[in-house]
Amino acid sequence: MHQLIQNGGVFDVIVIGGGIMGIAIAAVEAERGRRVLLLEREEHPVGASVQNFGLLWCLGQPAHLWKRALRTRARWLEFAPQAGFHASPNGSIHLAHSELDAAVLKEFSERAPEGFQGHWLQAEEIPARCTAVRRAGLVGGLWSPHETTVDGREALPRLLEWLQRERGVEVRFDAAVSRVEAPEVVSAAGTFRGDRIYVCTGAELRILFPDVYRASGITKTKLQMWRTRPQPGGWRLGPSLCAGLTYLHYAAFADCRSLPALRAEYERTHAEHLAHGIHVLLAQNALGEAIVGDTHHYAQTHDPFLHDSLDRLIADYLNTFASVPDPRVAQRWMGVYARIPGKTDLIAHPQPGVTIINAMGGAGMTLSFGLAEEFVPE
Ligand SMILES: Cc1cc2nc3c(=O)[nH]c(=O)nc-3n(C[C@H](O)[C@H](O)[C@H](O)COP(=O)(O)OP(=O)(O)OC[C@H]3O[C@@H](n4cnc5c(N)ncnc54)[C@H](O)[C@@H]3O)c2cc1C
Repeated sequence: MHQLIQNGGVFDVIVIGGGIMGIAIAAVEAERGRRVLLLEREEHPVGASVQNFGLLWCLGQPAHLWKRALRTRARWLEFAPQAGFHASPNGSIHLAHSELDAAVLKEFSERAPEGFQGHWLQAEEIPARCTAVRRAGLVGGLWSPHETTVDGREALPRLLEWLQRERGVEVRFDAAVSRVEAPEVVSAAGTFRGDRIYVCTGAELRILFPDVYRASGITKTKLQMWRTRPQPGGWRLGPSLCAGLTYLHYAAFADCRSLPALRAEYERTHAEHLAHGIHVLLAQNALGEAIVGDTHHYAQTHDPFLHDSLDRLIADYLNTFASVPDPRVAQRWMGVYARIPGKTDLIAHPQPGVTIINAMGGAGMTLSFGLAEEFVPE
């Protein structure tokens, strides 16, 4: 014990991983009065929480996670001015360019979760809210005020600085953890002791507790996406946009009776998109860059390459519902997140005092703070 204190230190809580899930746990534990250490293996965050769209996409979540999504959004909006990053509550429009799209959206809005404040827009109402929308064939759209945009490149470092400065969290970078034997955590920055240990290591599934991951059915999803330069003349997109392929992708629409007909139509017209798990979102960050994506491929090990043909499929589909003034691409990248098919997260306790929190799939930004609040003890 004496040696442990000299080497590293003793904490109430040790969080392993400085992505959004580790940050959310650290924030809530510190808020509840505990002395927290966060260990991140990299020099700054580069995981899924930085690779993503930065969309708090409340509407897409299954009904039982709706409140968690709203709570997470509220915390993002609360922390943004305190930590000094942008969070833009621009909302979204789910567009209908066919009667089949419209049927799904209208059915969804009729039984939308409690507190949903969106409503149906007629086609002629949409251009006033968003000039990017393709008017040809436009039937209408579902407006939702809840969706919010952040930029992980900006938000994650600011949150980590703020946790250290204002919440007394000790953050160590370059601190890869190689072993957990509760209450001991062995890392490249020293050996530490914690009463409660959280493992929030994202898509790293092979070093700590690989047996738990193997048994859980977890896989890695590879996504491909891009952003443009800042749009000219201060042009603003306003609400984030999506279209029919997204309604096939998100669990929120899964129970709609009208969904099978939409799926059958897309299987006929967009089989290649469906084969690559493509659904297309268009968003814009505070810098004015338009963000476009993405593909979804599932495996334990992915090739590290970006495929032009997939970007073309995304661009072709985007062009069916929206366009931005300057579509030239500034950056393309691939991202990877952990996910368990059919589940919304993985919570496991491999040792007394140790909790693994992982596999939020494509919704970690949307659900992290709410999830942390739900099970961090008061
Ligand atoms: C391309 C893409 C688009 C997405 N779009 C959205 C979106 O719009 N909205 C949304 O809600 N979600 C989105 N997601 C999903 C979201 O990004 C993830 O669910 C979320 O970021 C996962 O957070 P995390 O903290 O679990 O993982 P990460 O952000 O990957 O963080 C894990 C951290 O643990 C560190 N680590 C790993 N092993 C160790 C170790 N042994 N010791 C110390 N540190 C370690 C890693 O370096 C990393 O920093 C998207 C994901 C991707 C890839």
